[in-house]
Amino acid sequence: MVSVGECSARAETYGDLRLKRYVSPLYRKNRRVLRRMYEANLLPCAYCGLPIDFSAPPDAPLSFTVDHVIPVAAGGSDMMDNLVGAHKACNRAKSDHLATQVKESTRVKPTKRWW
Ligand SMILES: [Zn+2]
Repeated sequence: MVSVGECSARAETYGDLRLKRYVSPLYRKNRRVLRRMYEANLLPCAYCGLPIDFSAPPDAPLSFTVDHVIPVAAGGSDMMDNLVGAHKACNRAKSDHLATQVKESTRVKPTKRWW
């Protein structure tokens, strides 16, 4: 017989497993290559055109992220031609929308501050 305490412990374990997201090896590789390319050439954010802060912590709004131009949810691939470098904030504002669907008003206007 399973007690209530055991059930909740199992649910939490299951919950932890569900939080992990599958990241394809191709995406992982292309993300590394793209970051190197953006950092070496000081390329700006693909969405707002402002410089990316490569020294910022990963959760900072102006830090570097890789975005799928055509979202995976809309059938986009992990191939290099579907990936661009963007600020974390711009990437988050775009979410699962196509780049052309992002309304100007929802775009983030980054500043030099990153906190
Ligand atoms: Zn940006």
